[in-house]
Amino acid sequence: MTKWVYSFGDGQAEGRASDRNLLGGKGANLAEMCSLGLPVPPGFTITTEVCTHYYANGQNYPAELEAQVNGALQEVGRIAGRRFGDPERLLLVSVRSGARASMPGMMDTVLNLGLNDLTVEALAADAGDARFAYDSYRRFIQMYGDVVLGLDHEVFEEILSDEKARRGYDVDTEFSADEWKEVVGLYKERVESELGKPFPQDPREQLWGAIGAVFSSWMNPRAITYRRLHEIPENWGTAVNVQAMVFGNMGDTSATGVAFTRNPSTGEKALYGEFLVNAQGEDVVAGIRTPQCLTEAARREAGSDKPSLEKVMPEAFAAFVEIAEKLESHYRDMQDLEFTIERGKLWMLQTRSGKRTTKAALKIAVDMANEGLISRAEAVCRIDPASLDQLLHPTIDPAAKRDMIAVGLPASPGAATGEIVFTSDEAEGMAGQGKRVILVRVETSPEDIHGMHAAEGILTTRGGMTSHAAVVARGMGKPCVSGAGTLRVDLRMGTMTAMGRSFKRGDVITIDGSTGQVLAGAVPMLQPALSGDFSTIMSWADELRRMKVRANAETPVDARTAHSFGAEGIGLCRTEHMFFDDERILAMREMILSDTESQRRAALAKLLPMQRADFVELFEIMAGLPVTIRLLDPPLHEFLPRGEAEIAEVAAAMGVDAEKLRQRTESLHEFNPMLGHRGCRLAISYPEIAEMQARAIFEAAVEAGQKTGAPVVPEIMVPLVGIASELAFVKAIVDDVAKKVQEERGNAIDYLVGTMIELPRAALNAGEIARAAEFFSFGTNDLTQTTFGISRDDAGSFLETYRGKGIIEHDPFVTLDVDGVGALVRIAVEKGRAAREGVKLGICGEHGGDPASIVFCEEVGLDYVSCSPFRVPIARLAAAQAACRKA
Ligand code: PEP
Ligand code: MG
Repeated sequence: MTKWVYSFGDGQAEGRASDRNLLGGKGANLAEMCSLGLPVPPGFTITTEVCTHYYANGQNYPAELEAQVNGALQEVGRIAGRRFGDPERLLLVSVRSGARASMPGMMDTVLNLGLNDLTVEALAADAGDARFAYDSYRRFIQMYGDVVLGLDHEVFEEILSDEKARRGYDVDTEFSADEWKEVVGLYKERVESELGKPFPQDPREQLWGAIGAVFSSWMNPRAITYRRLHEIPENWGTAVNVQAMVFGNMGDTSATGVAFTRNPSTGEKALYGEFLVNAQGEDVVAGIRTPQCLTEAARREAGSDKPSLEKVMPEAFAAFVEIAEKLESHYRDMQDLEFTIERGKLWMLQTRSGKRTTKAALKIAVDMANEGLISRAEAVCRIDPASLDQLLHPTIDPAAKRDMIAVGLPASPGAATGEIVFTSDEAEGMAGQGKRVILVRVETSPEDIHGMHAAEGILTTRGGMTSHAAVVARGMGKPCVSGAGTLRVDLRMGTMTAMGRSFKRGDVITIDGSTGQVLAGAVPMLQPALSGDFSTIMSWADELRRMKVRANAETPVDARTAHSFGAEGIGLCRTEHMFFDDERILAMREMILSDTESQRRAALAKLLPMQRADFVELFEIMAGLPVTIRLLDPPLHEFLPRGEAEIAEVAAAMGVDAEKLRQRTESLHEFNPMLGHRGCRLAISYPEIAEMQARAIFEAAVEAGQKTGAPVVPEIMVPLVGIASELAFVKAIVDDVAKKVQEERGNAIDYLVGTMIELPRAALNAGEIARAAEFFSFGTNDLTQTTFGISRDDAGSFLETYRGKGIIEHDPFVTLDVDGVGALVRIAVEKGRAAREGVKLGICGEHGGDPASIVFCEEVGLDYVSCSPFRVPIARLAAAQAACRKA
């Protein structure tokens, strides 16, 4: 018989941490904590396989589930000395979801389950506190009504604030037992009037209702969006955790809190967290009361006058510190903990590897390696390469003038500028139009995930460092300022007021997630640099990786950035980008409009010195590192004006006949420019273009070599080759120019000629091509286009639909399609190497900066990857991880 339910409690557990796939993250770690002998309230986990079964069988449970749940519930009761539904020895439970990966989009928690009109009295007697019992009951109705019965939580908020107002109360704690009882009555009436049936009184009905709600929430739109954004497969399913309740709200010797074993923002090795006395878990994250610091040190630093846990409950605090240390060294990673203290007794409710900023992740990895807790290779593998992007974002220039309008908490680092929007739908809409927006909210909830994703940064007026906005923004790597309490947001008016100034939707502000400042307008930013823990991890990564990392760059600025980020050369210099300057485009157009070869040569002669100067600069910046320069690739019409008005303007500026210009533009028109007169086809039609470029390259190599004293060995790359004879033709031109320049200059020139592999035919015939090519660079942008027969410029309109309908898992222009494009790459690698030993192999399509694709590059044994300058550190790390994984 399948085991659908796993119990834990009393120092024993049927599951363990490694059962994450079956028990979900929360369930697996509860089991592990139990086995470690830590104080965990007894409970059980309904497995993710039940979720899978539920959806595969028309939302029905396996037949044996009910009996297994009953058995497990009895066992919980035995350990707790209680019985579910029994008013004499009342057992209340919490019900929580728990997927393999934490999923904020899902039903989270129902507490106090098992309460009804009868058992609430038992709880009152048990606790000796009727006020507590009725408060717990109304919380239960509220939570259950919201997450299980699907009522809007506003329904309850409204009743509560009316009751508060009627009595002139400011805070919930002013309600007496009888008053809470009245609120319970009103809640129940409201449930009945909304749903046409009374609030369920039967504890078992309540339990199955909550279990059903967890499984149903797996398919709610928020969860689906979250999975899509985080690439979590639908078939993973969620588990359900049912656990005996412990109460943090049983008076002033009770408390509840959350903690990280190290600071999740900075990585500092110090217990970090918040708690509330006499409160239930939800109160800490809800941001209604301001939580207190755990340690005295943190309290002093925060300048808070509210006592720390260390001060108010020293024994429970000491026990907690010991457990926190034990869990960190057991899991060998920073832990995110939830705990409750019930009348002085500490209970652990959760442990998991804590989410952290990239800055913290780097510090924690470096520190843990230095502490001997993990190896350097593990430290390198702990960092998500894509997350480095966070550190590669600009920060506010310290010299910039700051027009500060508010200060909140520095919830997620980095700075962002954008137009104010007040709703997530607006954020998504405006971002879709290419605008940069800052999402401004009172607080965020899982419904805001899409808006947060679309925004440049997030600003909230309420909530702490562990609020939803803060946690999710850190995970996304978006700048966030939370709890900027002096800001007033008026949603209806679409305004935000601060320090007497009013800002409306569309006004530009800047947030600084590293200091918590909110500034009016746009502010000058500084570009990031590698230093501290970041550069330590990078140097460890460099020791581990086999592949080299180069950059795709053609401007001096890009080349310098790439060099400062550790690029070991240029893997792709797209020369066409150098022809768009005002002066150059003129000469380029002259060349295109020429009727004869000699006219073309005259125009090209104007371009030669400019092109040569570009290359000298690149060679100098790269100081002896390899530089791969690609000959002109795009179709010529890309350099000509479009539309009558632009044609007339350009014709006037050039002093040529507008009609002639129009005709030439028309004659260059192609139905499929991507498959048209471009790449090496240009050099074959107009050899003089390739001649000019080769000459510029060789003359620059000689000049830069003389200047720097280091010989320059340029790598000349021929684009869009499909036939070996195409390459042979262009190579002959290049070799001929090399010979001439050597004779003219009296210098020997060392150089390589190679090709891009970006057409299936080239991959399939790589053996023949390798006879003329000393290197291959996989142009996986074009290779993906031509393999799929999908234009990268037009794919946007349907690829998202494909992803949504599960036709494809990843956008193949972002993550290399290993099965198709990858198969061609493999063939080309094998044939190329067989034909020419030591043929240099690299990749320069966008995939060269994508960590998942880099794994593939390592697997097939490429010599290097080349990517955009800002992705160089990401590629260095990803290449190291790929090498570790392969080893
Ligand atoms: C490629 O096709 O992968 C490539 C790098 O060239 P481009 O993107 O310039 O076509
Ligand atoms: Mg290409």
